[in-house]
Amino acid sequence: VHCCTSTGCQAANSLTVKRNLENAVEETGLSDRVEVIGVGCMGFCGRGPLVQIDPEDTLYEEVTPEDASSIVAALNEGEGKAVKGDFQHPFFARQMRIVRKHSGKIDPERIEEYIAVGGYQSLYKALYEMSPPQVVEEISKSGLRGRGGGGYPTGLKWATVAKMPGEQKYVICNGDEGDPGAFMDRSVLESDPHLVLEGMAIAGYAVGANHGFIYVRAEYPLAIQRLQKAIQQARKYGILGSQVFDSPFDFKIDIRIGAGAFVCGEETALIQSVEGKRGNPIPRPPYPAESGLWGCPTLINNVETFANISAIIREGADWYASIGTEKSKGTKIFALTGKIRNNGLIEVPMGITLREIVEDMGGGVPDGEVKAVQTGGPSGGCIPASLLDTPVDYDSLTKVGSMMGSGGMVVMDKSTSMVEVAQFYMEFCREESCGKCIPCRAGTVQLYELLDKILKGQATMADLEKLEDLCYMVRDTSLCGLGISAPNPVLSTLRYFKEEYLALLSQES
Ligand code: SF4
Repeated sequence: VHCCTSTGCQAANSLTVKRNLENAVEETGLSDRVEVIGVGCMGFCGRGPLVQIDPEDTLYEEVTPEDASSIVAALNEGEGKAVKGDFQHPFFARQMRIVRKHSGKIDPERIEEYIAVGGYQSLYKALYEMSPPQVVEEISKSGLRGRGGGGYPTGLKWATVAKMPGEQKYVICNGDEGDPGAFMDRSVLESDPHLVLEGMAIAGYAVGANHGFIYVRAEYPLAIQRLQKAIQQARKYGILGSQVFDSPFDFKIDIRIGAGAFVCGEETALIQSVEGKRGNPIPRPPYPAESGLWGCPTLINNVETFANISAIIREGADWYASIGTEKSKGTKIFALTGKIRNNGLIEVPMGITLREIVEDMGGGVPDGEVKAVQTGGPSGGCIPASLLDTPVDYDSLTKVGSMMGSGGMVVMDKSTSMVEVAQFYMEFCREESCGKCIPCRAGTVQLYELLDKILKGQATMADLEKLEDLCYMVRDTSLCGLGISAPNPVLSTLRYFKEEYLALLSQES
């Protein structure tokens, strides 16, 4: 009996559900053949707490502590009173799970369960059957691109770090997920932490690094706790530390806890923060691959990127490259939220359309119609319903004025004011701007104030023109990605929903 113990279900009282399930198993004398296991996220977070029964693959949704006894009784009698879910539901059936393959199926706090499903075999294979250049070549051939937002080819980044001279190199896993509505990385870390550690160790071997850091925001205490436990267990099994799997390769991983500044997700700011300094971005070049942590060549990838590595090494680059589109390979995890029936985490092959995600998997808007889908968080844009047939891949999303980002996907219905949406994201960027460069520090404040003036019906046509000009100025002159992409939600709503801005202008204009 699998009971989700990730943050989403815990918030809905899943720990009491789990305790009651354990008591019911004890009381009904089933302990010799039934075990209740706390697992990670199953994905259907809007319907939690979720309980799944093996081997029948029965799913129970919205389980209350009172349901526990009837679920256990159903194991004996074949009938349950809790609300039964359906794994054939398009929310599950349309998914392709590579990164989340074992999420919700194994206990993330027991390394033995990860090993039992083939965990760490890819690391072993890399160490004993492949040279470091072969590992880099395999990742390059797979076509994997960075899942943190930029979409930079992962193999190219690895090759750059690998060829840099120097005794000391580092690997950093960026777990500083901060987009509103996004919780993909948190879920991966909470549900399958060893998968990320394995990806980092393979990366360390490939690029010649012996030390890794995982940077996780302090708002993710469960992810941090499970990572700490996972690192300790891997050390105990000789998988991390000196002479990994009795090979000459040494690799240790430490955790660094971020204090919640959104800008620390930017790689140069993150490096400053790991070094113990204030998390301010610095100009590039030099890129971290050449001169990163403490001036050493440093490989930075995000959680989901590292979580893809084990499958690529195990199944091969050709297999991975056969999934997705010509330029966007593999799968992508999205946090599907907003005005939609089925909220939660989905992993889908690249190239699937927004319509398939929103209407088929998400079940559409509860009462009404889709107006727009926001992807990419504060750096992304709002895609109108008329473009729902857009394929979800890096290039197609950029073409329509948004971006893949790290995987936030917020659905909006007809009741949503797109000018308010633009202001919401601008307020976020204004608050999170580190203040180092003027275009972003002052520009986001001015953009916010102009949007406020428009929403209050006090703006003129000249203000609207100023808003657009200021967007381009902030985009073209800011120092880091936060400022460069901050105007995107405004520009995309101006592009597709300009009539909403015009309708709000003062009658005198
Ligand atoms: Fe800081 Fe914004 Fe400039 Fe980035 S763009 S360095 S967040 S002020």
